[in-house]
Amino acid sequence: MPDVHWGYGFPIGGVAATDIATGGVVSPGGVGFDISCGVRLLAADCDRAEIAPHLAALLDALGRRTPRGAGRGAVWHLGRRDLDRVLREGAGYAVDRGHGVPRDLERCEDGGVLTDADPTAGRVGDRARERGLGQLGSLGSGNHFLEVQEVETVHDEAAARAMGLVAGQVCVMIHCGSRGLGHQVCTDQVRTMGRAMRQHGIEVPDRQLACVPVDSSEGRGYLAAMAAAANYARANRQLLTESSRAAFAGTVGHHLDLVYDISHNLAKIETHRVDGVDRRLCVHRKGATRALPPGHPELPPDLADTGQPVLIPGTMGTASYLLAGVPDGDAWHSTCHGAGRVESRHQAAREVDGGRLRRELEGRGIAVRGTTARGLAEEAPGAYKDVDAVVATAEGAGLCRRVARLVPLGVVKG
Ligand code: 5GP
Ligand code: MN
Ligand code: MN
Repeated sequence: MPDVHWGYGFPIGGVAATDIATGGVVSPGGVGFDISCGVRLLAADCDRAEIAPHLAALLDALGRRTPRGAGRGAVWHLGRRDLDRVLREGAGYAVDRGHGVPRDLERCEDGGVLTDADPTAGRVGDRARERGLGQLGSLGSGNHFLEVQEVETVHDEAAARAMGLVAGQVCVMIHCGSRGLGHQVCTDQVRTMGRAMRQHGIEVPDRQLACVPVDSSEGRGYLAAMAAAANYARANRQLLTESSRAAFAGTVGHHLDLVYDISHNLAKIETHRVDGVDRRLCVHRKGATRALPPGHPELPPDLADTGQPVLIPGTMGTASYLLAGVPDGDAWHSTCHGAGRVESRHQAAREVDGGRLRRELEGRGIAVRGTTARGLAEEAPGAYKDVDAVVATAEGAGLCRRVARLVPLGVVKG
């Protein structure tokens, strides 16, 4: 993908498909530590002018209601039984418990739940559970954010309308994942696989590439644990949706509808036609987004003609995009996931003055909440590629098409 950059094992911004019937492997390094990290976009029933006088108060409320940073703090403090249900039922369990409305689930990839999740002991371990209990409904750090945006340009009016958006409309974009639970699941699974590889006669040049056949007990075990962590990530974004709704209702009196929720770190078993034959593939998308074409049976009926919405964050100082899947989309129906880094966090922190960056953003009317000066510097727009160029490249390569360009009005940084 055009946003590709260095990552653990596999690069971030890559898609790898393996053929299950011929011993194809699954690799945690092809999914990443933040299992089912992803993006959701909410549409407000108002335009920029309506909220402009209240922007500071709105960002204050969003900042207050959004637990963030590396430590604890969560919208919903779970009991152990609740955690088990979140791992099995995903966003659906959050909605069942009053955190959202049933329509939200229609606008989530997979209806908000991977049904083949198995969180039993040995799959999702004690340490992972411990970390998960206190973090449901929290952003995490750094690259994760909650951003108030405006639809600045509509590239495809019919598609935008079908997705519930018009020019000038206010939106909220949420980017976060499965927090410490997902990270721990990945760590534990890599260790298990590392041991199992020899039995499967697999040797890799780097332990970050640990993998086993999809069709093996360790392979199935990984996918079941990964699915449980993915369900946690989906419930996480659902809870941050509810806290955003409360902040909007309390300050500007407006409502938020879910446009779509999609992961960009996940492995999925999918059927694709290869050399004229339908094959079951394990499609790893790491820093890559599924982009289903118009007419695909997994799309919600009201988006069948449009194709799947794809959400591409850019940076807090530039733009972000709403895209759609295209007929015959390449790369197993996948496209990019963001702008992609050009500088490491360390490099950016050394080069950028976080305090000055904050003043610059505020001076351009972009309200900033959360994080430290260093944290802000690490996420400086200059540390990322030009999102307009990345998206144009993805479109030019026949992976997706542009629906709308969004610009930031305010950001709560993790
Ligand atoms: P990742 O999942 O690789 O950590 O991040 C995905 C993408 O999010 C990055 O490639 C970057 O383009 C984008 N991003 C990171 N921070 C922000 C932010 O504060 N606002 C927006 N709109 N995008 C961001
Ligand atoms: Mn993440
Ligand atoms: Mn991410």
